[in-house]
Amino acid sequence: MINLYVSRKALSYTFPIFFCMKALVVICDGMGDRPIEELGKKTPLEVARTPNMDELAARGINGTMHPIGPGIRAGSDTSHLAILGYDPFKVYTGRGPFEAAGLGIELKPGDIAFRCNFATIDENMVVTDRRAGRIKDTTELAKIINTLTLPGVEIIFKSLSYRGALVLRGRGLSYKVSDSDPHYPNKKVEKVKPLDNSKEAKRTAQLVNEFTEKVQEALSGKKANMLLLRGCGAAVKLQSITEKYGISGSCMATTAIIKGIAKSVGMNIINADLNYLKRSSRALKELEKVDFLLMNIKEADEAGHDHNPRKKVEIIEKIDEAIGVFLDFSQENYVAVLADHTTPCSFGDHTGDPVPITICGPEVRTDEVDKFSERANSKGGLGWIVGTNFMPILLNFMNKSEKFGA
Ligand SMILES: [Zn+2]
Repeated sequence: MINLYVSRKALSYTFPIFFCMKALVVICDGMGDRPIEELGKKTPLEVARTPNMDELAARGINGTMHPIGPGIRAGSDTSHLAILGYDPFKVYTGRGPFEAAGLGIELKPGDIAFRCNFATIDENMVVTDRRAGRIKDTTELAKIINTLTLPGVEIIFKSLSYRGALVLRGRGLSYKVSDSDPHYPNKKVEKVKPLDNSKEAKRTAQLVNEFTEKVQEALSGKKANMLLLRGCGAAVKLQSITEKYGISGSCMATTAIIKGIAKSVGMNIINADLNYLKRSSRALKELEKVDFLLMNIKEADEAGHDHNPRKKVEIIEKIDEAIGVFLDFSQENYVAVLADHTTPCSFGDHTGDPVPITICGPEVRTDEVDKFSERANSKGGLGWIVGTNFMPILLNFMNKSEKFGA
């Protein structure tokens, strides 16, 4: 009997246009760490049993990545922008606009946006609960906020439980204003101040303070009787990844901010299942439709913020199991595994340490690294790169980049 099976890779030599390789980028949020005493001076990634990530490292090219630049403490938002090839120093002024996009608000250039929390305050404007008891249904409250008016400015507000985003649309607004959120309980709601001397910033601060007064009036008597504002940023129009790279893409994420970033660059958003293995099969299914899938896995970051190295090890092992689903896919396509930043359990927040990265696929030049970790990867063939180098490197492997010069 004749074997009719011809691998997609073999076909791709004959029909290069029809059998384009695809790419899956798994970003393990905050997975990078520092050596921990309790773990025998190893990192959670070094301690965790990760046979699948190790296999990808062994079959792939490895390195270390500074998400923004050496020593710079990246947020997940600025890091994801950089990894997608958008210079955060040029496109990022604050988290607000991306949070708003993640909640489904269509932003226009000139808009400014804040992240918000419904909160409880007392009669002296002192915040007694920054999350208003983590109130679940805020549909009615959101309706009330959307009826408020400001002179010459349109108010657009959306919420999901106690979190939300506020967009102000109008002429002459500036994102250079401070937060009304005092960031800690038992402190007074802050008066918003202009952060530069422009008349736009002064006017915006005045308008936002007027808005806060109106919110207090409109929500008086309710448990959630205040909206705290922070992270103001200006909406910018970003080129979509299709315009920029000629590829179609989707993003699987659990947080509004990552969804918002992906949406801002024209990616489809797909929801992540609670179950890691189901997430992986969902991802593979989506990759039948698109060229590129970014999968953000949030949980390791949370263990870092919680100062919990054992938990982080446990989560990394679960993530590794989910990555096992992609081993076959990586034979004929590209799979990259990386972290978006380091969240050391000792520090409990993001630091500027670099993160490990591996890119596995049919034509990468393999190296000596056969274990995926912060230290092992530093000996890899990619050397060290910065976040904005990632897409050009990946697109080059996929034979999708343009030649510079003749
Ligand atoms: Zn974090």
